[in-house]
Amino acid sequence: MLDAPVHTLTGVGEKFSEELEAINIYTIDDLLFYFPSRYDTYEIKPLRELIHDDQVTIAGKVIHAPSLQFYGKRKSRLTFMVEVEKVAIKAVMFNRSFAKKHINQGDTVTLSGKWDMNRLQITINYYRKGLPKSDEAIQSVYSLKGKITNKRLRKVIQTALQQYVDQVKEIIPTHYLQAYKLPNRKSALKSMHMPENKRMLKHARRRFTYEEFLIFQLKMQLLRKINREASTGNAHYYDEKRLNVFIQRLPFTLTNAQKNALEQILDDMISPLRMNRLLQGDVGSGKTAVAAICLYAAVTAKKQGALMVPTEILAEQHFHSLTETFGESTNIVLLTGSIKGKKRKEIVTAIKNHEIDIVIGTHALIQDDVIFADLGFVIVDEQHRFGVEQRRVLRNKGLYPDVLFMTATPIPRTLAITAFGDMDVSVIDEMPSGRKKIETYWTKENTLERVLEFIKRQILQGEQAYVVCPLIEESDKMDIQNAVELYEKLQAYYSSTIKIGLMHGRLPTAEKERIMEQFMHNEVHILVSTTVIEVGVNVPNATIMVVYDAERFGLSQLHQLRGRVGRGNKQSYCILIADPKGEIGKERMKIMTETANGFELAEQDLQLRGPGDFFGKKQSGLPEFKVADMIHDYRALEVARKDAEEIISNNLLEANEEFIPLLNLLRNDPAIFEKLD
Ligand code: ADP
Ligand code: MG
Repeated sequence: MLDAPVHTLTGVGEKFSEELEAINIYTIDDLLFYFPSRYDTYEIKPLRELIHDDQVTIAGKVIHAPSLQFYGKRKSRLTFMVEVEKVAIKAVMFNRSFAKKHINQGDTVTLSGKWDMNRLQITINYYRKGLPKSDEAIQSVYSLKGKITNKRLRKVIQTALQQYVDQVKEIIPTHYLQAYKLPNRKSALKSMHMPENKRMLKHARRRFTYEEFLIFQLKMQLLRKINREASTGNAHYYDEKRLNVFIQRLPFTLTNAQKNALEQILDDMISPLRMNRLLQGDVGSGKTAVAAICLYAAVTAKKQGALMVPTEILAEQHFHSLTETFGESTNIVLLTGSIKGKKRKEIVTAIKNHEIDIVIGTHALIQDDVIFADLGFVIVDEQHRFGVEQRRVLRNKGLYPDVLFMTATPIPRTLAITAFGDMDVSVIDEMPSGRKKIETYWTKENTLERVLEFIKRQILQGEQAYVVCPLIEESDKMDIQNAVELYEKLQAYYSSTIKIGLMHGRLPTAEKERIMEQFMHNEVHILVSTTVIEVGVNVPNATIMVVYDAERFGLSQLHQLRGRVGRGNKQSYCILIADPKGEIGKERMKIMTETANGFELAEQDLQLRGPGDFFGKKQSGLPEFKVADMIHDYRALEVARKDAEEIISNNLLEANEEFIPLLNLLRNDPAIFEKLD
């Protein structure tokens, strides 16, 4: 059985199976599907071109069956003669006595190893029977840990293949394999580990890429379907009249894009199906305004609403602006980690008694003691900052609440359909009118004085500036040290008429609040900060954003930072101080100065940095594929998505026998299993 533990395999003892566990191999199946991380190819060259002591590959006919000698403790040497270009070559292989029975006189073999020109001898570290179809031999290289060697691992995988490959069952219906000319699972599996040639390897990879994408897309779409169907009876009948009055009283008219998004969200609210929607829009496109309207709608439906944001500063800011927007009409509270003791207890009790309509907060919101009387609407802002688990906990605080995720990081389509395949997506792709384009410059540190003079001139005209410090991902401490140094440097540079504030994550909340307050009231002119201001902060009078070491940020991140300015009607500026070493770095800075569109930048960022870095390393929420690559194999992803859509919407999984393996696989997936239960 494929799910038998690896130690049942010949040659795998207790010790070795422990070592395999370190690379997450527990069963035969794990072993078979532990794919090489890369392949080395060896080119077969004529004998006269071989260089002494080099790693070489030759091919020829065995003219003398192998003889085996044992020596020392369990050591062995296998020798045989091979004819290559009419020359007899001696082949030597150490400690692989088992090969004796595989190699027979008359066999054609391909051998790789160290070449001894003087003795016409090759010391083999890799051999295969037969000639490669082209003039190359491909060797699998696995990623390893501990004491496992590539040789050893390759050997057990080969043993496993020999004994078990026949048990590997096809899971993709023939129809798709034929349509895309994909090899069957068994032969593709063999080719992944022991490819005969590049072409077969390519097809094997194509097959598993499609398989991975198809399973993933099926899972996403099935989840989406289950989510929608599982939840009846949570239609939120908001009061349309009150809502319209509320919208009318806003100090601006909604953009068309805002109206569309709002309509989609309100439709979801009224519908008995459960909303699971992502609201995407560039910084300043007016997502928060839409969120406020939806929260208000929930309140008119006599439900409670919650807004969870990643930082305290942001929570406070949302709290202040929403309190202003809602006026007396709703009871709204702030709940963050720094609200403690008696005050926290009072708030928690009020939430439980439905004396509170709307709660704005950080993860303090999802503590166990926070119990809502009737939570109907949940918004998670900057959702990628939260883990899947945190989002789930918040969602479960209500009875099928509608959930809206918001992100100011425009997400390229590729990522959106992979990371958020189980969600509906609304996009605000239009900025409120009257916004001026933010002028963006890239400069090197040696022009710093000019930058500082420029800031001074603008400040004397009544404007304000952010200065964002170098980013040091590994160390919070050094981040702060940098910020302090920069703060002192600027203080020394400017006369005391220019007030400078310092903001970083380790400051006590009261201090952060005080500084933010001062900045909002233009009592602080320059805010020196670590990246804590990255999300959401809104000070319309700030017109300059200076980013130090800009090359260390992703384009989307830089775009977010840039979005802190240009919020009022004055001309704003973004100055990137960067000295990138490579061409890609320079290219990225250039793109920033040329492109204002967040979606375009996101696409470029993804191309340049790859999906792992796109959301930041931590909680990307992106699936990990073994073979498939979301960017490189984008077209396969699209194809798999279409197929999955067809399969799910036509109920093929249940209706058609050929889909049973896929159905079983999906049913065993924890995320789906939990829902079906
Ligand atoms: P986001 O959350 O997408 O970054 P916000 O909702 O915070 O954007 O809006 C940014 C600024 O634009 C806020 O000051 C907000 O009051 C204002 N705003 C929002 N929608 C409009 C609109 N339709 N017209 C004019 N200003 C708007
Ligand atoms: Mg916002």
